[in-house]
Amino acid sequence: MIKEEIQRLKQEKNAVILAHFYQKPEIQDIADYVGDSLALSRIAAGTDADVIVFCGVYFMAETAKILSPEKKVLLPKMNSLCRMAAMIKTKDLEQYKQEHPDRFIVTYVNTRADIKALSDVIVTSSNAEKIVEHYKDKKILYVPDKNLGTYLRYKTGYDIDVWPGYCYIHDLLTINDIKKKRDLYPNALVLIHPEAPLEVLQEADFVGSTKQILEYATNSDALEFIIGTDEGIIHALQTKNPNKTFHLLAKGLSCINMKRISLEDVHEALLKEQHEIQVDEEVANKARKALDKMMELS
Ligand code: SF4
Repeated sequence: MIKEEIQRLKQEKNAVILAHFYQKPEIQDIADYVGDSLALSRIAAGTDADVIVFCGVYFMAETAKILSPEKKVLLPKMNSLCRMAAMIKTKDLEQYKQEHPDRFIVTYVNTRADIKALSDVIVTSSNAEKIVEHYKDKKILYVPDKNLGTYLRYKTGYDIDVWPGYCYIHDLLTINDIKKKRDLYPNALVLIHPEAPLEVLQEADFVGSTKQILEYATNSDALEFIIGTDEGIIHALQTKNPNKTFHLLAKGLSCINMKRISLEDVHEALLKEQHEIQVDEEVANKARKALDKMMELS
């Protein structure tokens, strides 16, 4: 019943529902598009809907608003906040820039608008390596994920300083988790998100973003996989690959903030057009430049 009502409201208000792969299965099922940060940013930038209901965390909805300032962007639960995004403050980045004026600021999309506004280019886990390639002759600061930054430095060998932030679920993964799961499922391939620590990534069969993990598992001849990212991705993996088996790499791989939104919240947000994202115009204009650079290079 509530699903039909959401569909009706969506048509009435010319709305589109975007959901990240880490959302609850029932939210993924009612979304018009399910994807990673890069895909959802692209859709947000190109949609002709009047209203975007963003089922993700705050920085994602905020990014959609920056890319589509004329649209109404709604986040059904305003307390859906990425913990990693909170690990960098404007004043600290401003101070770093003053002390290191020669560093080129490459910023993960998992940041708030004020941090994006201080950045030279934005990246996602799907395109970070490709974009950093364009700046190989520069001294880089990568913010705020120390693990993805360290992985980029390891993969490219470039001069990359890293901010000490991290994702609290991926940062807890260990080599021991892999050993235990490989013992249990010796035929399974291990696919891990690059927000995990480097020593863990070095033990993986494949390292990639959520979308890349989904593509890899779908195109692989293997039938069994161990997945090192948020459990929300299992729904998309299993839906696309009903004949394959997926195991989570470790317990606790579930981001609490990505699971806050319920069908009732989506319905309420649409009905009342509530929880609208606002971004200061000057900040949005600066952040958009860094986001446009990403779109141009990816
Ligand atoms: S999974 Fe990690 S990086 Fe993603 S929203 Fe949650 S805390 Fe942030």
